[in-house]
Amino acid sequence: MLAINNEQKFNATVKEALTKSANFPRWQNAINKAVAQIELHGEFMTWMPETKSLLIWSQDSNDIHAANGVCDCEAYKHGFPCWHRAAARLVRLYMEARLEESNNIPYLKTTIERKAERLAGIRIN
Ligand SMILES: [Zn+2]
Repeated sequence: MLAINNEQKFNATVKEALTKSANFPRWQNAINKAVAQIELHGEFMTWMPETKSLLIWSQDSNDIHAANGVCDCEAYKHGFPCWHRAAARLVRLYMEARLEESNNIPYLKTTIERKAERLAGIRIN
């Protein structure tokens, strides 16, 4: 069961994804289908934080897909964007945005050891 509790945050995530994929109509279609599927069939999806993947029991094909950057469906095998990957990415961005929110509350801040890395002589973090 996928719970989207902060609809405003989710809508903002979707809007940004659609803006970024403006030149990729296939991705736009995938994103739109993903949003519709999340709204209609979110109860058949599970977010796996360990692997940052979304488990989807597809109501179209009755298959279960595990999607993150890759997928195991027919569209992916043929090199096309699929709504599973779009859904996984939307949910990941949404979940990360939610984490960021809680990190802004000082007493909820997690301590993360960050090591400065250099790339071509430029400090990147
Ligand atoms: Zn797929």
